[in-house]
Amino acid sequence: MSTPVQLRWAALGLDLGGSSAKLGIVAEQGKLLVIEQVPFTPLDSLTTVLESLQHALHQLRDRAAAQGIELIGLGCGVPGNLDPDRSTVLLNNITALDGFPLRPWLVEQLHLPAVLDNDTCMAALAEASLSAPADRTLFVTVGSGIGVVLLHQGVIVRVAHGATGEAGHIIVEANSPYRCPLGCRGCLETVASGRAIEREGQRAAAEGRSDLLEQIRQAKGFLSGADIAAAMAQGDPAARAIIEQAGHWLGLGMASWAAIYQPEEIILGGGVAQAGETWLQAAVAAMRSSGVPRFTGTVRVATARLGKEAGVIGAALAVLRHVSERGMSAYCQ
Ligand SMILES: [Zn+2]
Repeated sequence: MSTPVQLRWAALGLDLGGSSAKLGIVAEQGKLLVIEQVPFTPLDSLTTVLESLQHALHQLRDRAAAQGIELIGLGCGVPGNLDPDRSTVLLNNITALDGFPLRPWLVEQLHLPAVLDNDTCMAALAEASLSAPADRTLFVTVGSGIGVVLLHQGVIVRVAHGATGEAGHIIVEANSPYRCPLGCRGCLETVASGRAIEREGQRAAAEGRSDLLEQIRQAKGFLSGADIAAAMAQGDPAARAIIEQAGHWLGLGMASWAAIYQPEEIILGGGVAQAGETWLQAAVAAMRSSGVPRFTGTVRVATARLGKEAGVIGAALAVLRHVSERGMSAYCQ
């Protein structure tokens, strides 16, 4: 006798990043069933980006159907800002999508409800779903850029026009030669993000400060943040100094955020948070030595538990939550 097929329901999570898009099928309670990655560059044209996304979305839809999984919606995290309706991308790390009405396009692709939000919000939702919410949790993603979201008892705090603020763009180096993609000069992103780590790695290699980084750069044609973290793990002093410096800068940002938001805990996610203890210790030390002791002395600091899948899981949880609260029709238009 064959085992009857059990029909399950789930949502698609889509996490758009500066260098790739991650897509997954996520069941209720945030269980990740399938995950895939689509390569992506910030310089891709709109047509290229949409074609890649369309192909990947349709593949996942077919895969879900083949496994008897009913999809009830699509959540999408965007690396940047959205309009107040969270429908159109305004300004983000994938330039081709700026000004594009992404939510209607996503609805059209799968004929399912779609919910959009900033990618840090999505990752924060996923992380918050793992434990009982603290009164005030500051969730920070450190990847190509830096996103900061305050959760109050597990709910995202929005400061204006549905947005959560851009605390990754506090200016920390007034005379910096570097501007971030959003246009500000010397903001935290220019010194503490994955992009900053890569830039400093390239410099160290080009200036002859690290034979190992130069070898990797020659072999691959570029250096990623993960390459620099790997070089540090092999004992490369220049790579270690770069990671420590990035952690130190982040810690200065955390010191400022501790005074502004007064969180009980700060959770650090995103690709750079995988750099490990050296980076984390540099950040915590800088925060505690520079900030207001009353705010920085007791705040708990931890790295996110979900790692790179947080954005996909959170995006799916966001649409599952919206559909359960408002029904499918409210978002399927
Ligand atoms: Zn900036």
